[in-house]
Amino acid sequence: MNLLAVRGLGKSFGGVKAVDGIDFDLKAGELLALIGPNGAGKSTTFNMVNGQLCADRGSILLEGRELVGLQPRAIWRLGVGRTFQIAETFSSLTVVENVQMALISNARRVFSFFRPAASLERARAMDLLDAVGMSAQADRACSALAYSDIKRVELAIALANTPRLLLMDEPTAGMAPKERNDLMALTRKLVVERHIAVLFTEHSMDVVFAHADRMIVLARGRLIAQGRPADIRRNPQVQQVYFGTGSTFALDAAAPAAGITT
Ligand code: ADP
Ligand code: MG
Repeated sequence: MNLLAVRGLGKSFGGVKAVDGIDFDLKAGELLALIGPNGAGKSTTFNMVNGQLCADRGSILLEGRELVGLQPRAIWRLGVGRTFQIAETFSSLTVVENVQMALISNARRVFSFFRPAASLERARAMDLLDAVGMSAQADRACSALAYSDIKRVELAIALANTPRLLLMDEPTAGMAPKERNDLMALTRKLVVERHIAVLFTEHSMDVVFAHADRMIVLARGRLIAQGRPADIRRNPQVQQVYFGTGSTFALDAAAPAAGITT
């Protein structure tokens, strides 16, 4: 069975159909990219899955269980995680302390009266930091880290909640190409090793083509294509939306509104 099954999902804001009846599936162990020009409905889709927004219509099933109508916290408890930016207030904590805090909060989720010993939490936090290549920097303050390293710690924090589905909205925003590729290669490794599903939005087409197992393409709230990167690259409708300007790998801002057919 698919981990996630989305059917007929829709959300309007006033007269704007931000998401207009989309269907897609996601399996465990799969890295699925959600792409589309600005205003295509990526964030709206994303926020319906995590419960920040309630769908007007349609269904989002997680292993057969309906998520539409549930509060974000209830969805999180069912194993849908997301990466959060490390809050300013936590940036004075060390890297490992940040991960330990996430582990404590997850222990409350899973065993409401059980609290693991501090030493156990530290060992588990170190394992997670190892998994994202950050154990050598465990005792540094998060405020002292390079931006790309903060992104790795945010990933470790998200993993502390043992998600079955991890949601990442533009995880590589603000990063240089090399760092983007490193972060997505790491994400890919974690997806395979931990057999989790990842749904991410991305505006860098080269990152998506290099790392996603499959992609879905939105334009003006409609799903215009889905498939493996190699197939999407050849899809005429996608080419019209994204490559219409001739700037091969430009997405978002460069996508010509006039070229979008829905
Ligand atoms: P993307 O993330 O692909 O750039 P969004 O999902 O943010 O697209 O937006 C899709 C459409 O819905 C856009 O036309 C946007 O202006 C509109 N929209 C998104 N959020 C809101 C909101 N909270 N209120 C009104 N309109 C919104
Ligand atoms: Mg967005």
